[in-house]
Amino acid sequence: MKINSNYLNLKESYLFSDIAKKTAAYKESNPDADIIRLGIGDVTLPLAPAVVDAMRSAADDMGVKESFKGYGPEQGYGFLKDAIKAYYSEEDGVELEADEIFISDGAKSDLGNILDIFAKDNTVLVPDPVYPVYVDTNIMDDRKIVYMSGNADNGFRPLPDDSVDADIIYICSPNNPTGAAYNHAELKLWVDYAKKKGAIILFDAAYEAFVSSKELVRSIYEVEGAKECAIEFCSFSKIAGFTGTRCGWTIVPQTLVYDGVKLNKLWLRRQTTKFNGVSYPIQKAAAAVFTPEGRAQIKQNLDYYKENARIITAALDELGIWYTGGVNSPYIWLKCPNGMKSWDFFDLLLTKANVVGTPGAGFGEMGEGFFRLTAFGDRERTKEAVERLKKLLK
Ligand code: PLP
Repeated sequence: MKINSNYLNLKESYLFSDIAKKTAAYKESNPDADIIRLGIGDVTLPLAPAVVDAMRSAADDMGVKESFKGYGPEQGYGFLKDAIKAYYSEEDGVELEADEIFISDGAKSDLGNILDIFAKDNTVLVPDPVYPVYVDTNIMDDRKIVYMSGNADNGFRPLPDDSVDADIIYICSPNNPTGAAYNHAELKLWVDYAKKKGAIILFDAAYEAFVSSKELVRSIYEVEGAKECAIEFCSFSKIAGFTGTRCGWTIVPQTLVYDGVKLNKLWLRRQTTKFNGVSYPIQKAAAAVFTPEGRAQIKQNLDYYKENARIITAALDELGIWYTGGVNSPYIWLKCPNGMKSWDFFDLLLTKANVVGTPGAGFGEMGEGFFRLTAFGDRERTKEAVERLKKLLK
């Protein structure tokens, strides 16, 4: 038996363990330090009451013979797909068919699993800095990876370069880690490029719920032509605090045809073969996100995080520090002051302000010199962290 030796080509990710180690070591020698963590990408607010009620009532259904559910449809229950269909229609003006929507246990799984339906000799284009899953899942398959540079000049929104050939293109907007979000015109350039190259765009919309500016898109299907060249991944994780509950969805339009084959058909075959669906109580809980009650409660949580982001960006404005994100994103990506390197700035913040963030260098070469703060923390702690930052950097 031979192993998949591509796994040996994966770089160990020490980012979050290094952060944890450095923070723990500092705390050990400074036991009185009151450390505030603004580095986490996880949510902190609990599930909305409407979601919990739906989950509870679905659990009750499972204990009664008449309403008990065994295996469900691999692609998800109709009630959830219909709710997502209505959400796209109302929020984005995008019309989908129910059979174009596939319910998943989160965006991360499907972002990795989708590669099953693509050949291994495709060339992949990924932005740098980047959410590490795109790179690692392609290293596992030994695909050739080409990077496109995000930097301060392009606002961390790299645009297509005709001289670069690509078959699979990753776009994450609003972006993790940079918080940068593409506008309609920029995404149209990507759609046109993909169609010209015969490529597919894998559009990660995990943070779409944070978009409030009118010129930005929440779904790539708002852009004309995208249904012929893009698959969209989304998640309840950041919209509704489902990071520990696990539910998401993937859109594979019927109009995606490559090598004369519908990708929807391939993905359906892949899912029915390798996946047995998301549990009924979780899908019921997810559907409750879209009820009027659920929507109102979730908006409150999103507004809470958005206000945290506003508090952080207001301080950066005051300090004259360059950043992206924070407006249509829970992430704030800032340029380390005085040309500092990411880890040097991490050490400075930890030791002089007792605030923990995430060094940009951990997300790719182009992340060096930048730093990620998140708006997912507690309001009072965020305010306190910002005061400490101002005191230190003024
Ligand atoms: N995509 C991006 C860009 C993310 O940042 C994350 C999680 O942090 C995910 C996908 C994963 O989402 P899920 O919890 O649905 O697997």
